[in-house]
Amino acid sequence: MDNNCLFCKIIKGDIPSDKIYEDDDVFAFWDIAPQAPKHFLVIPKKHISGPAAMTAEDEQLIGKVIRVGAELARRNDIGDNFRVVFNNGEGAGQTVFHIHMHILGGRNMGWPPG
Ligand code: 5GP
Ligand code: ZN
Repeated sequence: MDNNCLFCKIIKGDIPSDKIYEDDDVFAFWDIAPQAPKHFLVIPKKHISGPAAMTAEDEQLIGKVIRVGAELARRNDIGDNFRVVFNNGEGAGQTVFHIHMHILGGRNMGWPPG
């Protein structure tokens, strides 16, 4: 828990969110500024600032973030066609420094990404 972190505050319920799923390890909610018809975020409850700050002990936790995200995509009518994004660093578009996986779906995705 980082008292200055927006996503830690969302996990705690201090800032409201449109929650999709929660268990002891992970939390999922719809993105406030969707970039696709369906766009949600899956985060670990543990505060990790981004992919580059992961340690080996976080591997299982982030694996769970991915597995739960795929399951939630199915449950929320996205199916098995979706884009997974982890932005790392300001230059890559990261604006919230609590690791989060974007799942975007409901439309065709271009490649390469911008
Ligand atoms: P980043 O740009 O760091 O990869 O992604 C941060 C994401 O968090 C953005 O897609 C942004 O729309 C979303 N976001 C920022 N603040 C809030 C918020 O207060 N609530 C929700 N649900 N999403 C947020
Ligand atoms: Zn945090």
